[in-house]
Order: sequence, then structure tokens, then C-alpha cells
Amino acid sequence: MMEGNLQANNNRVINYLRLSITDRCNLRCMYCMPEGITDFIPHEDILRYEEILHLVRLAVQKGIRKVRLTGGEPLVRKGFLGFLEDLSRVDGLKEITLTTNGVLLKDMAAGIKECGVRRLNISLDSLKNERFARITGRDMFDQVWEGIQEAERLGFDPIKINVVAMKGVNDDEIRDFARLTMTKPYHVRFIEHMPVGEDNGWKADNFISVIEIYNIIESVGKLTSVSSRNLLDGPAQRFKLEGAKGEIGLIGALSNHFCGICNRLRLTADGHIRSCLFSDEETDIKSALRNNEGDQKILAMIDTAIKNKPLSHNLLKSGPRNCARRMSSIGG
Ligand code: SAM
Repeated sequence: MMEGNLQANNNRVINYLRLSITDRCNLRCMYCMPEGITDFIPHEDILRYEEILHLVRLAVQKGIRKVRLTGGEPLVRKGFLGFLEDLSRVDGLKEITLTTNGVLLKDMAAGIKECGVRRLNISLDSLKNERFARITGRDMFDQVWEGIQEAERLGFDPIKINVVAMKGVNDDEIRDFARLTMTKPYHVRFIEHMPVGEDNGWKADNFISVIEIYNIIESVGKLTSVSSRNLLDGPAQRFKLEGAKGEIGLIGALSNHFCGICNRLRLTADGHIRSCLFSDEETDIKSALRNNEGDQKILAMIDTAIKNKPLSHNLLKSGPRNCARRMSSIGG
């Protein structure tokens, strides 16, 4: 029998919930939240921790087994570690993971580990100080690198390094990132730049596909495929360079989309369920929670969101289009 009781159309088992716990961030990445953004979600509209926990407990009843905390930058939200501890006590959750920019990680990594988190995704688009500052708007490469080292020292495994590859911005570092896996046990994952949010700066000229990235990495060494997919695994196509300690992942959200195996729901920072990153169709859970409409109503809303999960984002057929919300409020 299938695990949990969730099933979207097309036989996709929906067992993974990504939570944007804040739309605030301490970086200003050029493709996500560039400098000058001021229209943040008002504090009173951000889902409170106890509301998130309530929703997660209901989602577990509907088959959710894995939760990823993201944002915005999850580590900037006040009371984060206390919330994480409460989340780790939710019955039925098998895995809690975290996506962070790493700026605050050095000091928080031990607390995160104590709450049972074992796997971390850390975003890093350049290995060069100055370029990091140009991409993120903040001169904080050293803090992030120290955070990654601390996570490694504490035994987080795997540590996934997310690199958004962009032509003319950081594509000349693809080989360096690939070589990093020779000496470090990191899973370096190259992500195609996606047209999400109004300020993403997406241009066809800057787009570099995972196929091009693969070809570039092949010039570093022989790549062999790693396949150990289980139901909670992500969408990366995984490879290893010969003799490497780490792995390389390719996430072709556009050119090689994984809608057919997409097992995700997302909860926006202001409490809306979204069943596809690229579709602006949302279910307003926050209102139901705050109007005390009852758990049965919310469970039914989760069901509907799953039933209506689009089969495919069709981005290449329909042409790249921006979706209205920023990645930071949807939860990247
Ligand atoms: N602040 C955390 C971080 O930096 O990892 C979590 C939130 S961030 C929105 C999550 C991931 O989304 C990051 O790896 C970021 O690079 C990625 N991202 C944001 N905007 C993107 C875009 N337009 N295309 C591709 N990836 C994007």
C-alpha cells in the first residue's frame, strides 16, 4: 500500500511540504530579492509559529512526511530554534530539512543539529569574495563559508550547496564548484535560473541549461550517474566525478522539469498553500485558521490543493513567464 493517504493526479504521492517561515532576508540576491525591495508582508500577516505547527500536524494526517524550512532566510526569524524544537516533536514527521544562505549558520548550526536536523541545503553562488558580494548585495562570503565549515564539523550529512548558474555572472565558476566535490563531501547542485517573482532578472541570454552545465563539468573529469532515489528524494539528477568525496546535482527546473515526480506542496509566509511553484493558484489556509473554521475544513482544503496540483508547469511550451509572488514568500 502507498505510504500516507495523499495522492495527487498522475500518481504523484505528495509527502513533502516546503514552508516559507518569513519573507525577510539578510541578503539581497540579484535574482531573488534585489536591493530596494520594501514591500514585505506585514508582520501580522505572517503565519505565527503555533499556526504553522497546527497546519503541519494536519498535513501529516494527509501524508506529509518531510518538511523543509525556507524563506526568505529562515534563520533570521526570531525564535527560530524554539520553533524548530517544537516542529521536531510533531508525530509522524520523518524528516526536517532547512535551506539557508548560511550567514547565521556558524552560531546556530549546533542548535539546529540538536533539534534532529541532519541534512542542510546552503546557497552559495560564488566562491569569490567580491563576486559573492556583487550577487548577494552583501560582503558576507566569509561568514557563509565559516557556516559551511561548521556544519561539516558537526557532521551534517549531506551538506548540499545550491548554486544558481547564470551566464556571464558565475558560469565561469562551474568547474571550480565541481572541483570542490573532489576534496569536500558536499553535494554541489546547479540550479537553472527560474523566472519566479517580478524581480528575478531572468533573461534568455543569461540562461544556462543543465545540459550545458553537464558538458562544462565533463571537461573536469568523468561523470558517473548516482542513483538511489527514494520517495523523499529531491529532483536533482545526481553524478559523481571519479574519486570525488562529494556529488554533483543538476536541477533543470525549466529545461528538464520534474513535474511528473513532483511530491511537493508549499506554504507561503502568509499562510497560503501553493501546489506548484509556478502557478499563482493558492489556497488561503491562514484565514481558515484565524476564523476558526475547524480542522475538517482545513484538511479538505489541503485535499483540494493536492487534487488541483497542475500536471506540469509548461514553462517552456508557454514561454517563460513570471509568477506574481517573490520566491522569498513562496519558499524557494
Ligand atoms: N534564504 C535561503 C537561501 O538562500 O537558501 C532560503 C530561501 S532561497 C529563496 C532558496 C533557494 O532559492 C536559494 O538556493 C536560491 O538561490 C533559490 N532561488 C531564489 N530565486 C531563484 C530564481 N529566480 N531561480 C532559481 N533559484 C532561485
